[in-house]
Amino acid sequence: MEHISTEFEKLVKKQKLTCDQTQVNIDKLINQINDAKQKIENDSSQSSTTLTILTSKLKTLSSQVIDNHKELHSSISKYSKSIDKKLKINLDTIWKPNVLLGKEDILNSILMSHFVREGQFELAEIFSKESNIPISDEMKNQFQDLFNIVEAIKKKDLKLALNWASEKRYLLKKNNSNLEFELHKLQYIQFLISGDTFSAIQYAKKNFSLFSETNFKDIKRLACSLLFIKHLENSPYSDLLAPSLWDDIEAQFKRDFCSIYGFSSESPLYTAVMVGASSIPPLIKVDTILKVKKNLDWSANSELPVEIPLLDSQRYHSVFSCPVSKEQVDCNGKDNYPTMLLCGHIISKESLLGLCKGNNIYKHKFKCPYCPTESIEAQARRVYF
Ligand SMILES: [Zn+2]
Repeated sequence: MEHISTEFEKLVKKQKLTCDQTQVNIDKLINQINDAKQKIENDSSQSSTTLTILTSKLKTLSSQVIDNHKELHSSISKYSKSIDKKLKINLDTIWKPNVLLGKEDILNSILMSHFVREGQFELAEIFSKESNIPISDEMKNQFQDLFNIVEAIKKKDLKLALNWASEKRYLLKKNNSNLEFELHKLQYIQFLISGDTFSAIQYAKKNFSLFSETNFKDIKRLACSLLFIKHLENSPYSDLLAPSLWDDIEAQFKRDFCSIYGFSSESPLYTAVMVGASSIPPLIKVDTILKVKKNLDWSANSELPVEIPLLDSQRYHSVFSCPVSKEQVDCNGKDNYPTMLLCGHIISKESLLGLCKGNNIYKHKFKCPYCPTESIEAQARRVYF
């Protein structure tokens, strides 16, 4: 993509230059005509000579304008050619067209739940009828609630969100979520912004006591901010005015809402498409290298030979594969589970025992299979994903 944008930048620069030249030439044309008009008005006897000179000048200038136009046209047509050339990717080698054969119902229900998650309820209803996949009323109602609340948050109205958070207080606490406090905090900040000290104090008294143990530090800070209520923007509490607090609370609300109802925070279809799209370039590269150098076809294996660079938000750890034994390990397993070595590398408990070979867990040193760090078995820690 970088190549394309540099090439486009060059094209845009060239076009701007051509446009500027055309503008200059057209201005010249107008000036010549005005000059000739002025001359004829001053001395009509010279009109024939003036017009002859003008015609010849206009010819030259208009041919220059035509040239400019041609140049501009050719550079615009280069855009599409350049896109075609740069994005000419043959996906045949890295996709399996039959992978979804016979799984149309799964695909349809994924699509439908995506529509519901995006708030496209009408579309989901039509899709449900046409694909014969029943729509889950429970899920629809839950997301309808979510969208109503998010809509209110966008209008800076926190009432619905606060009601929901107080109803789900127990579950939120269980998930270690501080959503309810964050919502109250934002409501309190609104009183600060409006300069209403009395209401701010009343609100804090009424609502913050519930969080005195979990958020005492935050509450102290919010209380102190009252001292600067007249000029918050120039105080150490200016961060309380950040407009991004609204975006943050919206994102947190969506996340915690989905988590309570057992949904992933992003639509699975969205994640799959994003991960799929960002995997295309490295997969094509790997495919080319493997074919040229080793005459191997990676699609013959179920495991990718390279790591695909993904965003942190796109990484999931529901499955752990031990890099030593190459086996999938149950994260909640009794005897075999993921363990982290002193260096931070994670292998399965069984592989760790294999490395220690039954030696003294406090004395026998072994080297990590992935880095030079040496450690003893007792230093390894169980990891929960
Ligand atoms: Zn290591």
